[in-house]
Amino acid sequence: MSKAHGIFIGGEWHDGVGTEPNVNPSDTRDIVGDYAQADASHVAAAVSAARAAFPSWSATTPQQRSEILDRAGTELLARSAELGRLLSREEGKTLPEGVGEVTRAGQLFKFFAAEAVRLSGTMGASTRPGIGIEVTREPVGVFGLITPWNFPIAIPAWKLAPALAFGNCVVLKPSEFTPACAVVLVEILAKAGLPAGVLNLVNGPGHVVGQALVASSGVDGISFTGSVATGRGIAQAAAARMARVQCEMGGKNPLVVLDDADLDVAVNCALNGAFFSTGQRCTASSRLVVTPGIHDRFVSRLVERLRALKVDHALKDGTEMGPAIHEAQLEKDLRYVGIATSEGATLACGGERLQRDTPGWYLSPALLTDTTNGSRINREEVFGPVASVIRVRDYDEALAVSNDTEFGLCAGLCTTSLKHATHFRRAAQAGLVMINLPTAGLDYHLPFGGRKASSYGPREQGEAAREFYTQGKTAYVSA
Ligand code: NAD
Repeated sequence: MSKAHGIFIGGEWHDGVGTEPNVNPSDTRDIVGDYAQADASHVAAAVSAARAAFPSWSATTPQQRSEILDRAGTELLARSAELGRLLSREEGKTLPEGVGEVTRAGQLFKFFAAEAVRLSGTMGASTRPGIGIEVTREPVGVFGLITPWNFPIAIPAWKLAPALAFGNCVVLKPSEFTPACAVVLVEILAKAGLPAGVLNLVNGPGHVVGQALVASSGVDGISFTGSVATGRGIAQAAAARMARVQCEMGGKNPLVVLDDADLDVAVNCALNGAFFSTGQRCTASSRLVVTPGIHDRFVSRLVERLRALKVDHALKDGTEMGPAIHEAQLEKDLRYVGIATSEGATLACGGERLQRDTPGWYLSPALLTDTTNGSRINREEVFGPVASVIRVRDYDEALAVSNDTEFGLCAGLCTTSLKHATHFRRAAQAGLVMINLPTAGLDYHLPFGGRKASSYGPREQGEAAREFYTQGKTAYVSA
């Protein structure tokens, strides 16, 4: 991998205002690479390059754009093992999870390669004779794409693929914690044939680089994924200059387990949903809402499975859960376990820093029981392998607790009752609902997004992406 890359403007790699080493969270002695750091002047240059490339890129045929994206998708799929390894090394999720993420990104590029060609207008009928009407969708211009570290290939991919497919130019600002994955994506897209200036990369801290991108008058739209606090500021800044904006943010996602649930299914859903990817998923099932008839069996089986969970170096054979992304996240995880116990919760297992053969940010998966929905552990996103159990009387209370949150990203239910499954599907106040399924393996061709504080603006992926990355035109023609 290239050293000191991180800034790609007008088809060339540039030096920054310095470089920052990027560290493997499974082994902090392992430096993944040194990455160039951009400042506001690089952002301005990247936006100018994107603006300059827009007239010719937006005039390419959908077939030309489709071929480039398809080639990029093919390369991602062919290199999924190698790039999955890089992702695991940089972000700390296990190798199978890393490979799965790269595969999903490859499929995404292929899906939007096909969507580029499918985008077409419709003919309308006028109320007046002799007037022809054509309703079309056109590229918007330049998009700023701001992404988090927890899905460092898939999330940039699910913004880049539709933005480029529909004829826009972009400036990508990846998380400063995962520049290596962003550099590889840019290399793959450039090699696939993207003309200079169509895709630009600016790596660096959010409050400098991200903020300059959001403020730039040359940027027509912002797609952001990250925390609520950052998203709120971005939405306000974008709205102030009437740029289109889309924010996908955090969650405090409930998984309801009813008395009639299949115990194995419920435990698997909790294990996978709350602890895989080290709990560092926006969709993580961090609130386990459980009815009394299954509560004790569910808790004891889950504790048994959590105690047996292999927490180690992400690239080690058999590792089921890797480390936290960085020290600050590990400290946050530990802090919230402390907050929960001080609020009266029982620590059923985990919640301790672990030492492994390699120095890294390891935590044993923590399960807290006897918690109430009003406590901080159930109101605030931790973003680590920390889940809490809330005991409720029955389905009605479970639904009320499940919906009683400022967030609305993903709600899960484990039950064998068709009646409850059907009701929950409609009544859950969340953008994603999972019945007897963990919150993973989301399809790349369907809309993704939440409600309430979890999302602002249009959803991502699927048809929703076409709306966001294009603008409508209704043309009336008198021949
Ligand atoms: P973050 O908000 O700290 O950072 C996200 C991105 O925003 C980074 O690239 C960062 O550099 C940039 N940024 C920071 N401050 C900025 C500013 N003032 N202006 C512009 N950009 C700025 O989030 P994170 O820690 O990288 O990611 C974790 C969060 O992301 C969690 O809250 C998680 O739930 C959320 N997330 C949501 C989804 C979803 O689809 N809903 C998916 C993944 C992660």
